Amino acid sequence: DIKRRIRNGRQEFTPELAQSQETRLRMETQLRRATDNAEFRLLYQPQVDLRDGRTVAAEALIRWQNQQFGGMRPDHFIGHAESTGDIVRIGGWVLREACRQVAQWRDQGLGLVRVAVNVSYRQFLVEDLARAVREALEEHDLPGPALELEFTERVLIEDAPDTLRTFEALREMGVMLTIDDFGEGYSALNYLRRLPIHGLKLSQLFVSGVPGNQSDVAVCQAVAGIARSLGLGLVAEGIESDSQRRFLLELGIQFGQGFLFAPGLPPDEFARRFANR
Ligand code: C2E
Ligand code: MG
Ligand code: MG
Ligand code: MG
Repeated sequence: DIKRRIRNGRQEFTPELAQSQETRLRMETQLRRATDNAEFRLLYQPQVDLRDGRTVAAEALIRWQNQQFGGMRPDHFIGHAESTGDIVRIGGWVLREACRQVAQWRDQGLGLVRVAVNVSYRQFLVEDLARAVREALEEHDLPGPALELEFTERVLIEDAPDTLRTFEALREMGVMLTIDDFGEGYSALNYLRRLPIHGLKLSQLFVSGVPGNQSDVAVCQAVAGIARSLGLGLVAEGIESDSQRRFLLELGIQFGQGFLFAPGLPPDEFARRFANR
């Protein structure tokens, strides 16, 4: 059926293509079973105050360990999971696991730590996201502000009929709402006014170029200006050097993440870091 699809399309059949199609199907089969097989885990990357490096929150980042495919980063499988729809089940697991973890940290006396979870646009289209979030919070007796949800601009582009209502319901629960990778997508500025969001994350695509690259500098300045004029929080992603950190601080950006501070950490390492801050 792969061959027929190729014959019907304009693509020429090549062994490489057959192999990649086969690999894709094998991966999707493995991905479908991965939640049940407990093959996922979450790492937690510190979000820090750029002035003193103090940790203020954690972003949960999924990792997949599979027998056939080994360890895999999300960029290699989230897209597949989105096209098959499996992301809804996977995303539900991420949400519950991150809530379980942050509740445990709070019980251990770690203080008012917050966890940020990445949410796919598909979770908006096919699931009552607000209800799933409410249940995850209630299950672990967590207040809304313990949780932050990161969406990409794709959510805004898809513009599902219930998106606005979902955002409002989440906002009412006190959940923090943030647009991830801001600037990479279509930057629908119109939605920034309309949606009840709290903040933006400046994409590492631009952070990586400062302070040397003039157009990246211009984009960072522009995003900082947008955030400031709309009263939105701003977190810079992918900070790898101290010159980047200092440049972003000068732009008035107070919070950031990046390898300069820490990569995604196993839960106990994050807890140690947060406790010692
Ligand atoms: P993201 O949400 O923008 O997360 C930031 C990514 O940049 C992470 O990659 C992180 O490890 C990496 N990163 C952090 N600091 C630095 C740095 O200083 N330099 C560089 N070069 N990279 C840095 P990761 O964990 O591979 O995740 C990639 C993307 O996969 C995430 O981008 C997010 O869009 C998606 N993702 C991760 N976990 C989930 C999840 O649970 N659900 C969904 N739907 N997507 C997820
Ligand atoms: Mg993110
Ligand atoms: Mg990002
Ligand atoms: Mg990203």
